[in-house]
Amino acid sequence: MATSYPNTSLFIDGAWCAAASGRTMPVMNPATGKQIGALAHADQADLDRALEAARKGFATWRKISAFERSKIMRKAANLMRERIEMIAPLMTQEQGKTLAEAKMEIMGGADTIDWFAEEARRAYGRVIPARSEGVYQLVIKEPVGPVAAFTPWNFPINQIVRKLSAALAAGCSIIIKAPEETPASPAELIRAYADAGVPAGVIGLVYGDPATISSYLIPHPVIRKMSFTGSTVVGKQLAALAGAHMKRITMELGGHAPVIVFDDADVDVAAKTMAASKYRNAGQVCVSPTRFLVQEGIYKSFVDKFVEATKALKVGNGLEASSTMGALANPRRSRAMEANVEDAQKHGGKVRTGGHRIGDEGNFFEPTVITEVPNDAHAMNVEPFGPMAMINPFKSFDDAVTEANRLPFGLAAYAWTRSAKTANAIASQVETGMMSINHLGLALPEVPFGGVKDSGYGSEGGSEAIEAYLNPKFVSQAGL
Ligand code: NAD
Repeated sequence: MATSYPNTSLFIDGAWCAAASGRTMPVMNPATGKQIGALAHADQADLDRALEAARKGFATWRKISAFERSKIMRKAANLMRERIEMIAPLMTQEQGKTLAEAKMEIMGGADTIDWFAEEARRAYGRVIPARSEGVYQLVIKEPVGPVAAFTPWNFPINQIVRKLSAALAAGCSIIIKAPEETPASPAELIRAYADAGVPAGVIGLVYGDPATISSYLIPHPVIRKMSFTGSTVVGKQLAALAGAHMKRITMELGGHAPVIVFDDADVDVAAKTMAASKYRNAGQVCVSPTRFLVQEGIYKSFVDKFVEATKALKVGNGLEASSTMGALANPRRSRAMEANVEDAQKHGGKVRTGGHRIGDEGNFFEPTVITEVPNDAHAMNVEPFGPMAMINPFKSFDDAVTEANRLPFGLAAYAWTRSAKTANAIASQVETGMMSINHLGLALPEVPFGGVKDSGYGSEGGSEAIEAYLNPKFVSQAGL
C-alpha cells in the first residue's frame, strides 16, 4: 500500500512555519529504512519566538472560561475522530506500528481530550470553615503557567495528548518538543486543536536537538512547569535541571513490568492476554509486560501456550492489513534486541522462539520468548523495550514478590490468580504505580497513570492529572 507522507513544520504563535535557519532533518520509515519526509529543526531563535508566544498565549487562554475551553477541546477530539483515516497511515509510516494500533491510539487520544475537557469544568477549589464570623477562606485553583513538554516516539500522539490536554484544561499554555522520529502524526493533533479554535500562542510545537531544547526551555523564566516521558537516565538529568530552577515536574519514565502468574490462574486466558499485551507496539511500551514469573505447577503449560500465541503473530509492514506486529521504531531498538538475546543466551537463557532480525530491510525483529533467564542477564535489569518476553518459574508467593520488587523501577505490574486473598496480597506488596489483575486494565484516561521509584512521579490520567497543572491559591477574606 503506497501512501503519501508530508514534511512537518514547526507551529509557533498560531502559524505553521519553517525553522528560522531553514534547517531540516530527515524522517525515516522503519519498515523500509527509507527516507519519507523531512521536518523543521528549531534553533534558539525559534525557541525564543515560541516562548514569547507561550507567554502571550497563557495571558489569553487563562482568561477564557473553563466552559469555553472545554467546548474547544471537545471539538478537537471530534476532529481527531473525523480525520482518523488520514492520520493513522502517517503514524504507521513514521513509527512502524500496525494501522489497527495507530487507529486505536488516535481514538484513545480523542477520548483523553474529552476526559480533560470535562475535568476543565471540574477544577473546583474549596471553601474552608473559618475561625471567625464573616470570614471566607477560599482555595482557588489557578493554572501554573506556560509548560514545556518532552515526549518520545513510541506513542507519537498519546504521549503528547495527555500532557497537552491536561495543560489546556487547566488554562496553561504549552510548548511541546515532540519526537523527531515520528513528527507528522503529532502535528495532526496540534492541527486539530488549532482548527478547533485554540488561540495563537497557546500551543507551540517544536522539533530539533532534544538536549539543546530541554536545556534552553526548562530553565527559561517563562516556563513554569515541565513534563517528560522517556528513559529514566534522561529523566533524572531533566529533573535535576528543573530542580535547580525550581520548576514543577511530572516524570513518566521507564519500567520493567513483572507478570506474576499463580498456580490457580486461568492459564489459557493469562497466556493469550499477556502475549497480546507483550507484542503491542512491538513491545515498545513503558508498561509492557516483561519479567514473567510463573508458579512451578503451571510453568510448563504457561510457557507452551505463551510460545504458541507468540508464534501466531504475523510480523510485517504495519500498512498491510495482515500484519499483527509492525517494525521496531528505529535501528537502535533492533540492535538492542540482538544484544539482549545474545546476552541472555550467554547467561544460560533458553530461546523458545524468535531471537533474530527478520530480513535486511527495515527494523523487523522476531517476537521472542526466552525462559530460565538468570537475574544477571542485561534484559532482566534494563527494560528490553522490544518484542522480548522472559519467563522464569517461582516457588512461593514471597519469592515472586521479592523478584517483582528487585529492580529500582515501579511502573506497571500484572498478576493472575483465582484467589481473592492472593489478589489482595499481591496488589498491596508489589511496589508499583499501577497493577492490573486478571485482565488488562491500564492507561484509560479516567484512571491514574504513573510510576514510583525510578519510574518517576506524578499521574497523567485520572482526576489527579490536572492537579499537576494547577496551583492552589489561598484567599482569606473578611467583610469590612
Ligand atoms: P533516549 O533515552 O535518548 O530517548 C528517549 C526519549 O527522550 C526520546 O524521545 C528523546 O528525544 C528524549 N530525550 C533524550 N535526551 C533528551 C534530553 N536531554 N532532553 C529532552 N528529551 C530528551 O533513547 P531512545 O533510544 O529513544 O530510547 C531508549 C530508551 O528510552 C528505551 O529503551 C526506553 O527504555 C526508554 N523510552 C521510554 C519511553 C516511555 O514511554 N517511558 C518511550 C521511549 C523510550
